Amino acid sequence: MPPDAREQLIAQLQAAIGTRYVLHRHEELMLYEYDASTLDLAAPEIVVVPASTAEVVRVVDIAAAAGWPVVARGAGTGLSGGSVPAAGGVVVSLARLNQVLKIDPVARRAVVQPGVVNVDLSAAAAPYQLHFAPDPSSQRSSTVGGNAAENAGGPHCLKYGITTNHILGATVVLADGSVAELGNAAPDMPGYDLLGAFVGSEGTLGIATELTVRLTPDPEAVRTFLAIYDDPPDAPGRGLDAAADTVSAIIAAGIVPAALEMLEGLGVRLVEEYIHAGYPTDARAVLLIEIDGMHEELAAQAEQIAAICQAHGARELRAARDETQRQQLWAGRKGALAAAARLKPHYHIQDGVVPRSRLTEVLRFTEEVARRYELHVVNIFHAGDGNLHPLLVFDLREPRARERAIAASEEILHACVAAGGTISGEHGIGLEKRDYMRWIFSADDIAAMLELRAVFDPAGVMNPCKQLPSGASCADIKQARGAARALAAGAWI
Ligand SMILES: Cc1cc2nc3c(=O)[nH]c(=O)nc-3n(C[C@H](O)[C@H](O)[C@H](O)COP(=O)(O)OP(=O)(O)OC[C@H]3O[C@@H](n4cnc5c(N)ncnc54)[C@H](O)[C@@H]3O)c2cc1C
Repeated sequence: MPPDAREQLIAQLQAAIGTRYVLHRHEELMLYEYDASTLDLAAPEIVVVPASTAEVVRVVDIAAAAGWPVVARGAGTGLSGGSVPAAGGVVVSLARLNQVLKIDPVARRAVVQPGVVNVDLSAAAAPYQLHFAPDPSSQRSSTVGGNAAENAGGPHCLKYGITTNHILGATVVLADGSVAELGNAAPDMPGYDLLGAFVGSEGTLGIATELTVRLTPDPEAVRTFLAIYDDPPDAPGRGLDAAADTVSAIIAAGIVPAALEMLEGLGVRLVEEYIHAGYPTDARAVLLIEIDGMHEELAAQAEQIAAICQAHGARELRAARDETQRQQLWAGRKGALAAAARLKPHYHIQDGVVPRSRLTEVLRFTEEVARRYELHVVNIFHAGDGNLHPLLVFDLREPRARERAIAASEEILHACVAAGGTISGEHGIGLEKRDYMRWIFSADDIAAMLELRAVFDPAGVMNPCKQLPSGASCADIKQARGAARALAAGAWI
């Protein structure tokens, strides 16, 4: 696009939503060229910060008419490059759409704008003894809109379900500037589940500007345990096997813990040295096990869990004695990424899923791969649903460090798929894994998904080059769009 055309677009957007909310200077745009992944940076041409559905409509209308891609952005905590504008275009920050509009404690529902931070929603619902159940470890910064777009998970999703189970309706601005109401507060709406298609679509089908969400009652009682496993000197690795076997045994016993997380070796030490959560630094592995429900049922479950842990060789099972100690244990789990930075400043994290019965085998493989690529791997993950989070830490100043980390994670994800699992449990596909979609879907499957996408967005305006492989690289798409815009503007005629 010739520079005067960009100026024209800026002027149009400023007229639509106010000068202050259209960012276009280099130093402003730099803040929107990355997310929490380690992918290549890509700056947008313009960033807009609208304050209502009507303003989002105006922005989408203007950008789409001028041939620019539109990329929604919540808090930018994504781990797969979803909000990185790799094909350029206009980033729509939802930061000003940050109000909890309504809480209905009787229906146990809330209506929120997408930029509401996850914990702020639960804080708003707390006076009614309700909370928003999806609890990604990023919940202090990630937004409900970003959680819906990524279909985020979290430790307590083992019992309560991932984000899609908690979104009841969405107001969505589509690529042609129309506004669609997806879903409905009534359960079991007839017709196709378009809301189901939208949740997890990573900003490729439209921009959510309002969400109706389910609120979950706070449990009457909660009990949290730390099960600790050692490696006997004559059997290295036995502690890891024992912890993984405990996970399978707990679920096989018919217990559905609220959360069942594993931290192993290096991860336990890093977390403890940084957060002082009360984890034993000499453990080979620990399980953070939480059960919740009614007082009466918890006593029996706790006994069952203690017996299972003991039968699988746990050195000790510690119970959090009060809420402060419980919060401390969770602070350790949720601060794992920050703790790993003490080892090396950069990380590449994956979230491949495996059947629980294959956990140890794939964990061992991650260690072997890390050794081969001369990287450290920290394993802290949602063991209950087999969702591994191998965190490969490195220092970008070391030779080919990032390339090694990416190659290592590719091998790990291959192993997850070979074990009967898949490439992502919750972080989304984004830019990072879109080509890996071919490992798990046939060409026909991908073509069908591209057709669905085209129904919502025939011109490919919304977050192009994300989630689904289209055969073209982001650079190709960026170039083709630039050429089309120039042609439309008469530059080549
Ligand atoms: C320390 C850390 C821990 C994490 N832990 C977890 C975890 O436990 N579980 C988990 O699932 N994830 C986790 N994540 C990843 C990330 O926080 C989640 O994917 C989160 O849902 C992203 O929310 P966000 O607001 O930051 O979205 P962004 O990163 O801004 O955007 C993510 C995607 O959503 C799209 N999007 C954003 N808002 C909208 C909207 N209103 N309408 C349409 N599309 C939209 C964007 O285009 C992009 O594709 C973690 C990240 C970090 C940094």
